[in-house]
Amino acid sequence: MLKTFPKGGIHPPENKLSADKKIEVLAIPKQVSIPVSQHIGAPAKVSVKKGDIVKVGQVIAEQGGFVSANIHSSVSGKVFKVDAVIDTSGYKKQAVIINVEGDEWDEKIDRSEDFIKDFNYSSEEIIKKVQEAGVVGLGGATFPSHVKLMPPKGTKAEILIINGVECEPYLTSDHRLMLEKGKEMLVGTEILMKALKVDKAIIGIENNKSDAISHLNSLLKDYKGITVVPLKVQYPQGGEKQLIKAVTGREVPSGGLPIAVEAVVHNVGTAYAVYEAVQKNKPLIERVVTITGKSVKNPGNYLVRFGTPVKDLIEASGGLPEDTGKIISGGPMMGKALNTTDVPVAKGTSGILIMPKDESKRRAFKPCIRCAKCVEVCPMGLEPFLLMTVAEKALIERSEKEDVMDCIECGSCSYVCPSDRPLLDYIRLGKNQVGALRRARSMK
Ligand code: SF4
Ligand code: SF4
Repeated sequence: MLKTFPKGGIHPPENKLSADKKIEVLAIPKQVSIPVSQHIGAPAKVSVKKGDIVKVGQVIAEQGGFVSANIHSSVSGKVFKVDAVIDTSGYKKQAVIINVEGDEWDEKIDRSEDFIKDFNYSSEEIIKKVQEAGVVGLGGATFPSHVKLMPPKGTKAEILIINGVECEPYLTSDHRLMLEKGKEMLVGTEILMKALKVDKAIIGIENNKSDAISHLNSLLKDYKGITVVPLKVQYPQGGEKQLIKAVTGREVPSGGLPIAVEAVVHNVGTAYAVYEAVQKNKPLIERVVTITGKSVKNPGNYLVRFGTPVKDLIEASGGLPEDTGKIISGGPMMGKALNTTDVPVAKGTSGILIMPKDESKRRAFKPCIRCAKCVEVCPMGLEPFLLMTVAEKALIERSEKEDVMDCIECGSCSYVCPSDRPLLDYIRLGKNQVGALRRARSMK
């Protein structure tokens, strides 16, 4: 029997429309807007000014703290201005806007197609390279990767888990990466193992990507200590806690981090970015993005330079369909709706999903009928109907007591509710309320 996580979960239609589409390189735009905050943590500090000439791979904003990441130019050209632009979060963030001229790269970057298997760096040297390259978690969390490679004092990693689950419907960028850059991703995994000083790694992949499972298995003879574990298809298996439970049986405690059970999780895209950073001296300046939707003419997977407007990606897929109701950054379950297509592709942009009008309309919600379906599907063992009620009534301490902060915002509860109740919206409100309460407490 295939492994999976034991609590809750759903199986929405997969709609992996672009699974067979090879990664194509998207044309470089005339202008890029590169936000300095593309990660969790402090924004990076801009280190260029209007009129500066930059090359591809040059640092344009320096890490603004330990939990932060360098930002590099994804193009060559002249800095037009430093200004606030709306990013995929819907908020205005500081960005470096560059007018593109040619495609000149920093000389230190190895741009050849050569595959480099061997490396001889110490753990510290690897962490430094990953940090300098601005690598962050590419599964959507965008947590700076160097931080995850340095377990806090008193903890140690015993196993590395590579997340190749891609359980969000529609998205296929990780799937294509495993098929097309499998060897590089495996070297990236070895490098991460060395950095963490562990001798075991598991790559968890859902069984709807059997071609990726066979491909990686066929390569594994050259990689010691790495195994591929096929998983039952079940959303949200890509959640760190769900994946750890599925592949190791270990349970991360409420409020705890994976390191509490001696595990560290990195995404397949991150493993590939680590390969490029360490073996090719290439900073994180681009990523694979899926562009998809039922009315999209040519759904596909594109390698996109950061700062490229989302509208360029939509253009490449055949233009915005007439029946467009909603444009989402990410997948349908956890993604965020965009209010403009001018927003730039950034480190956390795994996909752009265009939903037709008839699927994106919100139905008016009705009273709770106490069916408990939301409780059954919650992978964190929460009571979503109750969390919504206490958030609505601003019973903040009660929200905290009911472990609202454990919610991973997977949306499974809202998905199954027969009364169309906006559970997740209210749960997010509850999390914000509790977050504010905790910050206020810590100031006292
Ligand atoms: S969104 Fe939160 S409360 Fe709802 S099912 Fe997911 S984890 Fe549970
Ligand atoms: S699924 Fe909806 S109707 Fe059923 S208990 Fe939960 S909130 Fe109430």
